[in-house]
Amino acid sequence: MSPLLTSLLLAAAGGFFAFTMLRRLAPLRALRREDRTDQAAERARALVLFGLGQRRMVDPGERGPGLLHVAIFAAFLVLSLRTVTLFGMGFDPSFHLPLLGPGTALGRGYGLAKDVMLVLALAAALGFLWRRLVTRPDRVTRSWEGNLILLFIAGLMLSDMAFEGAERALSGLPFDRWAPAGSLAAGLLGGLGLSAGATHAVGLAGFWSHLVLILVFGNFLPYGKHFHILTALPNVYFQRLPPTGALRKLDLESEGASYGLRTAKDLSWKEALDTYSCTECGRCQTHCPTYVTGKPLSHKEVNRAIRRHIVEKAPELVRLARAKDAPAREAAEAALPALSEGVVPPETFWACTTCGWCETACPVFIENVPRLVDLRRHQVLVEASFPEEAARVFKNIETQGNPWGIGSNRRAEWCEDLAIPRASEGGDHEYLFFVGCAGAFDDRQKKVSRAIVQILRSAGVSFAILGEEETCNGEAARRLGNEYLYQQQAAANVEKLNGYGVRRILVQCPHCLNTIRNEFPQFGGNYEVVHHTELIARLVAERRIRPGAAEGLAGPVTFHDPCYLARWNGVTEAPREALASVPGLSLREMPRNRREGFCCGAGGGRMWLEEKLGTRVNQNRVEEAAATLGEAGGVVATGCPFCLTMVKDGISETGREERLRVLDVAEIVASGLRT
Ligand code: SF4
Ligand code: SF4
Repeated sequence: MSPLLTSLLLAAAGGFFAFTMLRRLAPLRALRREDRTDQAAERARALVLFGLGQRRMVDPGERGPGLLHVAIFAAFLVLSLRTVTLFGMGFDPSFHLPLLGPGTALGRGYGLAKDVMLVLALAAALGFLWRRLVTRPDRVTRSWEGNLILLFIAGLMLSDMAFEGAERALSGLPFDRWAPAGSLAAGLLGGLGLSAGATHAVGLAGFWSHLVLILVFGNFLPYGKHFHILTALPNVYFQRLPPTGALRKLDLESEGASYGLRTAKDLSWKEALDTYSCTECGRCQTHCPTYVTGKPLSHKEVNRAIRRHIVEKAPELVRLARAKDAPAREAAEAALPALSEGVVPPETFWACTTCGWCETACPVFIENVPRLVDLRRHQVLVEASFPEEAARVFKNIETQGNPWGIGSNRRAEWCEDLAIPRASEGGDHEYLFFVGCAGAFDDRQKKVSRAIVQILRSAGVSFAILGEEETCNGEAARRLGNEYLYQQQAAANVEKLNGYGVRRILVQCPHCLNTIRNEFPQFGGNYEVVHHTELIARLVAERRIRPGAAEGLAGPVTFHDPCYLARWNGVTEAPREALASVPGLSLREMPRNRREGFCCGAGGGRMWLEEKLGTRVNQNRVEEAAATLGEAGGVVATGCPFCLTMVKDGISETGREERLRVLDVAEIVASGLRT
């Protein structure tokens, strides 16, 4: 061993690594500040569970490659001690870490763990290579870099085995069950009949190649997607904490008002760290409605594009961070192009349904929806450039308080004959039923509103509505980028609800649920918000309603999970429990269900935009429902007005009206209610 050579290697590699890291991290100083240091205990818990515990890696559907990754990750953790030991041996051949000396119980135990992990990591690296070169699943990006990294990993394991095997062979040690990999390598070397000199040379080659490989590997990481090996754990720690369904409130009033995302400098440091952390595993694409239906948007590709751009524009960003005065800042800013011009083009960010699949699938918690909405925000608030269908929606909400533009004075027509109390009349009610625009104006959804009223009355639940005083909560406007309009609508609703002292709100739309529960607190509106399927399940459990056989319900039923109910708000079982309470109802699950449910295509304001690219998302979902329900057909149940519309359209677009129907859970339960 050679202290001089070891020192030189460490100094050269350490110096180059520090230089690279400074270059990579320096641009982050120019980016938008965002505090991600709150709730340290919650962050630490997430780090242990999802970072060190790799929980998302072993999700159903991804278990095979996930387990291979877990093996490599665990091996790196265990072998890090071995790496320190080997560098120590470069200075002193008898070096060992405290407590892990040869012959000690801990040392033997660690030797066994190390050898097991070494073999597992080698097998996993070979498994991944097989996957990349032979089976080649769609979601994996083809790149020489990925193959090279796997060869690095295999090389690290083999060089360690060669070194230890040669040492054992030269010492004439017998097979040791506490050192199975080293013993096996020693046996192999012995079997080759090498001389002592040749065995010594193999050991030396193993030792030095291991040290060089680990140093080259470490220095190579920041240059490609394997930067995630260094950034993933911090990225998991600094993740967005619940409520994840809430978008950030833009400050539109003050001098430093923010209008979304135009250039790289409008990204937050966390959004840049996100792009550095993308492993390009492609899990985000598997159920992404835009990717699956051939639109130019995938979470992975957006990360790749922004990461490349940040690296390319690093000098300008560093200049911006160092700018001392306004002219210098302006000059540096002027050198940054708009992201919408080539990095993330408009057709990409307008395609997103904000369904959230990509974010919940991502093992390193990379955020996507907020930055796509921020790109829309800049287009809407500053450039006034947005699809013309969106312009109509904005105008309708502004003038009539609903996206259809139907007279606001007609908001309570759906219940004219039901004598529902108004909040303005006072009284102490269990719930304020926030009917929502679809529930009040859409002819199909009005039937769902009435079914909900029937259930509430059957259970003896007291409730009131706002009636004509209700106005659109602005959820679609916010996700279409019109933050100004959203803030107006949210503030008006909160003022009204707080004015009546409302505490509990019942909604029938998951989009209402998400914005009232998770976003209204930004405006001083704090309420307990319940989706109607949750309330129905509770009423059944409390025996306050007794569902009977649903009228005219022919064939099996499958439940389509609305994204804003299942993914963004974690409600998956209540609708199923409500359906299961209906006697004789046969529930079948679609392959993509619950958290892995497939979007209907309407979220993110896409309900109001034409779908001109690729195939139609709703048809993709209807095909799946049809295959699940079988030849004779049946019912697609859901709990969202947008899903109801999209599935209904998908059924007629695919010519399945004879065999498929779409119903809300409330309609199914209400149709057979026993008194
Ligand atoms: S965004 Fe997440 S899920 Fe998608 S490729 Fe990157 S690491 Fe994988
Ligand atoms: S939110 Fe949904 S539609 Fe948008 S990129 Fe992610 S998976 Fe695709």
